[in-house]
Formats: sequence, C-alpha cells, structure tokens
Amino acid sequence: MDLMQKLAILGESARYDVSCATSGVDRPNQPGGIGNASLGGICHSWTEDGRCVSLLKVLMTNYCEYDCAYCANRKSNDIARAAFLPEELADLTLAFYQRNYIEGLFLSSGVVQSPDHTSELMIRTLSILRQKHHFNGYIHAKIIPGTSPGMIDQLGLLADRISVNMEQCTQASLQKLAPQKTALAIARPMQYISGRRQANQDELIRYRHAPAFAPAGQSTQIIIGASAERDMQILLSAQRLYRDYALKRVYYSAYIPINQDSRLPALTAAPPLLREHRLYQADWLLRFYRFSVDELLDIHQPDLDLEIDPKCAWALRHLDQFPIELNQADYGTLLRIPGIGVQSARKIVAARRDHRLRVEDLKAFRLVLKRAAFFVTVNGQYAAGRVPQAEHLRFLLADQAGIRRQTPMQMRLEELPLVCDL
Ligand code: SF4
Repeated sequence: MDLMQKLAILGESARYDVSCATSGVDRPNQPGGIGNASLGGICHSWTEDGRCVSLLKVLMTNYCEYDCAYCANRKSNDIARAAFLPEELADLTLAFYQRNYIEGLFLSSGVVQSPDHTSELMIRTLSILRQKHHFNGYIHAKIIPGTSPGMIDQLGLLADRISVNMEQCTQASLQKLAPQKTALAIARPMQYISGRRQANQDELIRYRHAPAFAPAGQSTQIIIGASAERDMQILLSAQRLYRDYALKRVYYSAYIPINQDSRLPALTAAPPLLREHRLYQADWLLRFYRFSVDELLDIHQPDLDLEIDPKCAWALRHLDQFPIELNQADYGTLLRIPGIGVQSARKIVAARRDHRLRVEDLKAFRLVLKRAAFFVTVNGQYAAGRVPQAEHLRFLLADQAGIRRQTPMQMRLEELPLVCDL
C-alpha cells in the first residue's frame, strides 16, 4: 500500500474525532527550525455537517484491539486497515507543512497491542518531527486511556496539546459501549496530566528554559446521544473536568450512527446536532459567564431547552431579576443578560466611567440587541420599548433562533409586541 492510500484510509478514520480546533499556543520559529505555531490554531476547515476538521488529522493506525460500539475503527468492523510507519508520517507532515497545506498535526490512533505500545509509535513519530526536523508547528496528540505516566510524560513534552477522550461520562455507559475502557483508566491520565502541567508551570517560573509540558493544555471529547445520559450528567462531568483537571476544552460530538449494534440508538436516528450546539452554549456559560450546572438544569429539567439558548432559558426562569439597569449592574450581572457577551460587558463597564449610558449608546457595545433589549433598562428606559408577556417573550426568543413552533401562537406573531429596532 502506498503512502497516499494509507493517508486516505487513516485520514478518513480520524474524522469522527472532533477535539481539534484552534491551537491555543503561540510560538514563533526558532533559528534553524521549521514552522511555528500561532494562536489562530492548526489549519482546519468545516465540513457540511458543521464539524471542524484539520487538514492533517490522521490516525497512526486504524487497527484496533478494542471494540467500542460507536466507532468505525472497532475491531469487529470489516474495513480497510492501514498503519503509518513513524518515519512515513513524520515525512508526510513535514512535506505538507512545507507546501503550506497544514499548520500542524492532529495525531490519534487505534490501540495496537497496548496503550503503551501505541504511544511509543506516536512518540517516535513526534520525536522525528521535533528532534530530527526541528518541526515547530502545532501538534495535538491523543493519549489512549490506560497509558502509563512515563509515556504521557514523553508525549506531553513533544505535543502542544494532549487529550484523553472520555467519550462516555458514566462507568455504566463505558461498560456497555466501550467494554475495554474504564472510567478509572480515563481519569488517571487526565489527573496525571493536570498535576504534571501544574508542576511544569512552577518549573518554568524557576527555570526559564525548562521544557514545556503540553503548553496548550489538555482537552477531551464526549459523545452525545449514543447512551442515555441526560444533559445535566454530561455538563456536570464537564464542570468537574474543568475544575479538577483544569481542562482547556470539552468537545461534544453528536453521535453519528455508523455501526449496526443493538446497544446503540437506531441507525436511522439523525445526529443530535442541535443538542450538541446547546451543550456547547451551556459549556461556554460555565467557562466564561460564571454559571454553574445547577443554575441551568436540575433533576426536574435535566435536558437543555432545544428551542432557546441556555442563557435565555435561564433568564426566562428568573424574570423577577429583570430588567437590569445597564448603568448600575456589576460586571457579573451584565454577563447574565441574554445578548450581552464578555466583550460587550467590558465595553459597558468601561463606557460607564465616562458618562451615564443612554439607549442610543447601545449600538456601540456590539450587543445582540434584538435579545438584550427585552432584558435591560438604560437610564430607566426599557430598551425594548414595550414589555412582552413572559410566554410571548419565550416565543420571540425561539423565533429569533430560527425555531418556529407550530403552535397557535405562531399565527399571531405579527400581533405580538415586538422589540423596537434600536
Ligand atoms: S479504542 Fe475504541 S474508539 Fe478508539 S479506535 Fe479503538 S474502537 Fe475506536
């Protein structure tokens, strides 16, 4: 099999892993080296179904000893198999980089022989790139659950970002769908990486030239919809990962039916892409908007509202806290207003130092006015002009999101009190 045939097979086999997006690391070229990594991230493109794919996102091999129910590369599937030699993959990456096709490498692998043996192959590839060719581009490497700390150490010193895929967030689902994996085998490397990164940060303070360990941090991926977990369980797992292991990102991947397997949802089921989108929005609220999972969901409402985004859903459940006066609210309160993002909140706080805000000032803050206007007053003036009833407000917000319910209310949309266009 020639190199291009291997690339076709192993590129295709890697495409279901969504945990590659931007690099999050900025490193200029060094004298005598090749390439650099920029904050803009590894080269990626968006497929038709909205997934981010790297131009060189490959597996070391798609041979796999494991038999995860949801995976195209599982042992029991009769598919074309291939494996790169470390030298082949290093040369290919370099050649693509030099032609400007890619800005980095996203490397994962099926499990051959054992997690450590697989890691060794990946380490050899990355060593050739980094040490022989002085490749300075961005590298994201996968850690197989169960990999030993010594191997993680080596991978972390060669790659910018490393990630252990969680895939299922309960032991019961792992046992059912990925019986060779355990929650412990996933949590241990995450915990080790977190501790090792913390120690490395201390080393770097003391010794400026100490080698950096996974400078772009660690991430993970959770598959949505292959098992019965509710959004609350998924987000609680994500919240724990951010808090306990300082993860940079949790990626949510809508389950795509590939295999026929009685343990999985029906093959005809469409990938839950809207649910995936809502989870990303909620995740954003956890990381940047000071929300916690218990504010967004509870046992009575364990799933995110698909009709409106999680911040609007929260606001509708707390209408007693609105409208909020933009001249008085503190930064944390501003962040909770639908339509106001981190940048807008900062601009509002900065502008208030100069003068008292008026409705006319709002355009300058780059708010999503059609949403925010329902929830704020400016200098005592309700920004939407007229106050809609709560049930109408929900309908208007869903309508803004492009989700029109087939309810009698839809017939009366034109009659609803609409936001004035500020
Ligand atoms: S370990 Fe599981 S998810 Fe990973 S390649 Fe093998 S079968 Fe697929």
